[in-house]
Formats: sequence, C-alpha cells, structure tokens
Amino acid sequence: MAYAILNGKMLDRAEAKVDMEDRGYQFGDGVYEVIRVYNGKLFTLDEHLERLERSLTNISIKPPFTNQELTEMLYQLVEKNNLETGIVYMQITRGVAPRNHAFPSGGVTPCLTAYTKELARPLAQLKSGVKTILTEDIRWLRCDIKSLNLLANVLAKQKAADNNCYEAIQHRGHEVTEGSSSNVFIIKNGVVITHPSDQLILKGITKDVILKQCESLQIPVEERVFSLDELSGADEVFLSSTTSEVMPIIEIAGNSVKDGNPGPVTRKLQEAFEQEIVEQCGELKQSI
Ligand SMILES: *Cc1c(COP(=O)(O)O)cnc(C)c1O
Repeated sequence: MAYAILNGKMLDRAEAKVDMEDRGYQFGDGVYEVIRVYNGKLFTLDEHLERLERSLTNISIKPPFTNQELTEMLYQLVEKNNLETGIVYMQITRGVAPRNHAFPSGGVTPCLTAYTKELARPLAQLKSGVKTILTEDIRWLRCDIKSLNLLANVLAKQKAADNNCYEAIQHRGHEVTEGSSSNVFIIKNGVVITHPSDQLILKGITKDVILKQCESLQIPVEERVFSLDELSGADEVFLSSTTSEVMPIIEIAGNSVKDGNPGPVTRKLQEAFEQEIVEQCGELKQSI
C-alpha cells in the first residue's frame, strides 16, 4: 500500500482526498515543493523547507507546521513507502472555504498534502544531453514564488513535448529567463552565466548548489540577464532542477549548441553534483 500525508496524518494514498472547494483546486491558491530522494534520504531538504516557508509568507499563508515537524513527517512518509530513488511532492494550499476570490474572512486552515513517487535519475539523458525549444515567457511577475499556478509553464512544456523536446526555454523579449520547470545556464569562454534570482525566475535549489560548486571549483560565474543571441552563441548550455540535476542542452530550436555534444564545463559540474549527492545521501549505484 502507498501512503500519503493529508494535514499531518498518514493515510492510505487512495483515502487521502481533498474537498472540491479547496482553494488550491479552484484558484491555484497555494505553493509546492519537489524534493529528491536518493538512497532513501531527502537531498537538500532544509533548503526546500526554507523556500517553502518563503513562498508561504509571500502569499500570506501561515505555515501550518514547523520545518522540524515537516522533516519528521516527510521522513516517515519516505520510510513507510520504502522509497529509495524518487521524489517527495508536497503542497500547501490556503485551505477549504466557500468560493470567493478574497481570503476567507473567518480564517481558514491551510491544507498540506504530500506523497512520494519512484523516479530514476535520467542517466541516459544526463549522458547524451537533451533538445529544447524557445518560447515567449508569458508568466506573471512573481515567478520567485513556487506557486501552484502553473498554466503558462504547462503550455510551455507541452509545446516542448509537441516538438519532441525535453524543455522549453522561456524569454521575455530578447532576455532569457528560465525553463518551464528548470533554470538555464550558458557557458561562454569558461564563464558560467545565469539569470539573477529576482522576481522573474524561480530560485532553484539545484541552481544554488551549482553556483556554490562553481565557487569551490574556481569557475567564474556571472549572475546577470543574458540575451537570446548569447544563448545561441554559447559554448555550452545546460539546465538544472531537482529531478534533472545538471542536464546538458545540445539543441535549441533546431540548432545544435556548438558541436552538439555536452561540453567539458557541464561535465565537470555534473561530476561535482554527483559528489554532493554522495556526501548527503551516500554512494550512488550508478553514475553518469
Ligand atoms: C522548481 C522550479 C525550478 C527548479 O528548482 P529546483 O529547486 O532546482 O528544483 C526552476 N524553475 C521553475 C519555474 C520551477 O518551478
């Protein structure tokens, strides 16, 4: 049997149901996190819980549990589900109330749900690299909140899928922002360049791990806006996310990145990322 968490209780996944008038369902009024599990251990858990807290604060939902309580709950869930390699998905919505755009006046209890999913590391793609498309970034101006409102991201990813691509790289005019569910990096003359973590992108935990590693490897970094021209003229391009790790991009909108193979700086960062996994979660059965 698979288990899930609903408002602090461990339930049979099939029994864990939420109300039709949950504001997450009706308005996307809530936030979420996806956390990687390697060897039954939650990778960068504290960072994810801190970001969840920030997202909640940004939309005026009072955290219904402390990070200590969430840590215990999520570990119990992973153990109950015997999860080795996969993810934990968790979301917190404002709660259940009669439908009305404004927050419920009498107060409302936030609704927490969490479940696990088995998910292998995408090793073949991490080796070969992936193809991408370009699409205009039509999202709102608070992309720093990991909100349940993902309609623009869904449409972008579907456009990628329709073109047999892994991800859609979004841009506002000539300025590249990020993928539909990932951050984007370019490398030019040995310098790693990526969009600053402002309100136009989601500040990835994976991005932060990579930036720290660049520092210890003495790879120069520029966190600044870069253009579509810089993207197409880059030596290497990769994307990052909890599930995709450091994923080489070998094609953008039908054009190959350089010779169409993952480049040396990307490989170095993949290696460093695997070392970080091993340090936090123990030896990996397979490496890239
Ligand atoms: C979650 C997400 C990312 C990646 O963040 P990680 O913490 O590295 O998984 C990037 N962009 C968007 C839009 C996201 O929702």
